[in-house]
Amino acid sequence: MDTPLYLRPRVDPPLAGLLRDPPFLHSLVDALGSPLNVLLPETAAENAARFRAVYRHHHLAGRVYFAHKANRSGALLRRLAVEEPAAVGVDVASLEELRHALGCGFTGDRVMCTGPKDPEFLWLAARVGATVNLDSPGELEQLAALVRKYGLGRVQVLARLSGFESAAAQEGAGTRMLSRRSRFGTPPRDTAALLSAVERHSDAVELTGVAYHLDTTGLDEKVRALEQCVLLLDECRARGLAPRAVDIGGGFGVGYVADAGEWERWTTALSEAVLGSRPPLTWRGHTYGLRNEGGTVRGSAALYPGHRPTAGPGYLDELLSLPAPVLGRPSATLLLEHLHDLHIEPGRSLLDQCGLTLARVLEVRRTGEDGGDHLVRLGMNAGDMTLEEHGVLVDPVLLPRGGPEEGAADAVDAVGAVGVFLVGNLCLEADLITRRRVHLPRLPRVGDLLAFVNTAGYAMDFHAHHAQRQPVARTVAMEREGGAWRWCLDEQYWPITHPGGMPA
Ligand SMILES: *Cc1c(COP(=O)(O)O)cnc(C)c1O
Repeated sequence: MDTPLYLRPRVDPPLAGLLRDPPFLHSLVDALGSPLNVLLPETAAENAARFRAVYRHHHLAGRVYFAHKANRSGALLRRLAVEEPAAVGVDVASLEELRHALGCGFTGDRVMCTGPKDPEFLWLAARVGATVNLDSPGELEQLAALVRKYGLGRVQVLARLSGFESAAAQEGAGTRMLSRRSRFGTPPRDTAALLSAVERHSDAVELTGVAYHLDTTGLDEKVRALEQCVLLLDECRARGLAPRAVDIGGGFGVGYVADAGEWERWTTALSEAVLGSRPPLTWRGHTYGLRNEGGTVRGSAALYPGHRPTAGPGYLDELLSLPAPVLGRPSATLLLEHLHDLHIEPGRSLLDQCGLTLARVLEVRRTGEDGGDHLVRLGMNAGDMTLEEHGVLVDPVLLPRGGPEEGAADAVDAVGAVGVFLVGNLCLEADLITRRRVHLPRLPRVGDLLAFVNTAGYAMDFHAHHAQRQPVARTVAMEREGGAWRWCLDEQYWPITHPGGMPA
């Protein structure tokens, strides 16, 4: 085999410490089954504090709303609920997420309701005094009708915008959109109608700000959107409305791969494989959407950027520091000058380094295909470990059954490195944990564990299902306590007691 194309994960403490204790992790999977999700609620709180530090640095007020949809866990919500109420809230995108957040201790005034909403969701949001992030003018009509019919208090609403135009479009040079068009939010051409509706329903709703959430990593686009929100708030004030918050959504991102060079080598090799100048790196030559057109790679890869130089709080800092395209001053300065609050809704980035997913190796065999690759079958399936469209998967960490000495990677690295395909427990050809050939420091053995690191955001339970009655992963919450790890089932975790259930 040529040089292994590793994509080794970024692992920070305390997660790194946990991985140095394979016997403990083995005992957990022995007791609770494979797959098993492990969460570190404390790390989520630390991430929230890191975002808060960026606010302080820029002298900004406003809330960090954790986007619940990134993980189903109750432990994470309960841990975040004990944070300073003015600083940390929760963004819920369904009726059940709202009920869950309330049950975990968030009062209604700390809840932001996003996404498409059914009447029950709208009613409960209004009933408990949550903020409704309006998806459309129609949603506003529906909300106002519910408020009147049931005699509810005035509901705070944000106007979610979408379809921001590029500078070129604003200058009349066309209508090029910078981002993927979103199905959520109100496009600029309809904002006047939305504001009129807000005024018409002023007995039922109060506009407290404007919002966007852009599914992109592009900073320019977000700076532009933020500025357009500030400009729209000026317009609102000119009309006699008094909104004072800009909610810039989520999408601050996570760096999954530790080493920029490894990411660079792998993506370069993927292009070479698409062009046919090297053998495929993937199951049956999967190309992640790239094509070879006459010797040139075309298309864009359906891949999350595995290595990111700045992500999470650092990305927010950069966004706030960049000059706004029209007004010329940094976004943070614009917000500060207007005394606007800044709200954010981080999901993935708030859960950076907050968890891992463990799976037992059930079988190791050679495939006939691709010149003798190995298949490693795991006690999990693709639904248990999903990054979008098999987007990126960093290498799992091998935790040998026999303890760390057998897996001493450095000793066996040169001779033992092996490329494997990770397959799942479903009776389904497509059930691969990743389409990537994954390089491991040595061939796993039946009974070993593979630890997928940094799975708390979207990967561990977003797509989990009950197909074939295979078990859905249990989730445990873990905390470092005086030199030892204390754990409990997710549903048993309350931050006011130690995970073991003893009062603090
Ligand atoms: C999904 C979503 C988020 C969270 O996005 P991340 O990329 O996980 O930070 C925030 N706000 C809205 C409206 C969303 O739909």
